[in-house]
Amino acid sequence: MFPTDKTGEGGVVIAKLDDLLNWARLSALWPMGFGLACCAIEMMGAYGSNYDMDRFGILPRPSPRQSDVMIVAGTVTFKMADRIRRLYEQMPEPRYVISMGSCSNCGGPYWEHGYHVVKGVDRIIPVDVYVPGCPPRPEALIGGFLKLQELIRKESITAPRAVLRLLDQEKTQENA
Ligand code: SF4
Repeated sequence: MFPTDKTGEGGVVIAKLDDLLNWARLSALWPMGFGLACCAIEMMGAYGSNYDMDRFGILPRPSPRQSDVMIVAGTVTFKMADRIRRLYEQMPEPRYVISMGSCSNCGGPYWEHGYHVVKGVDRIIPVDVYVPGCPPRPEALIGGFLKLQELIRKESITAPRAVLRLLDQEKTQENA
């Protein structure tokens, strides 16, 4: 946890740049304010006063350009898939995705006969954390954010996740 070390009497704090950046990022996650289906109601509940995600520094933003987290809350239809992808591409790096609920994770109740449903949002955008449930309760979404914070805490400026992801993609395309 940042700050790690103190030296002298002058209020000087010594910390690794990675720790500083990660601490700043994980303490101010701004999800984009949008929802797709019933899971979004639970997401809205999590933002409300009962669960109060503000205390984690989690504040919904109205624009993808101001957001660093996308919560995919609900059924991803093929009609919406292009829009989701476009919104994701408008978000600046570093950006993260939480897939909330069975529909977004794998197609949910539409897995077998839902001809109109994408069988997992990770087929169109990369997902960092999966939150299971139909629908997951607000506590589960908060658990997803805590998990995401742990991932961010381990990030390094010398090997950003965005770059590693691109390298992975290239490798997959070469092997295909
Ligand atoms: S996972 Fe369940 S609650 Fe969530 S959008 Fe799908 S059907 Fe609705």
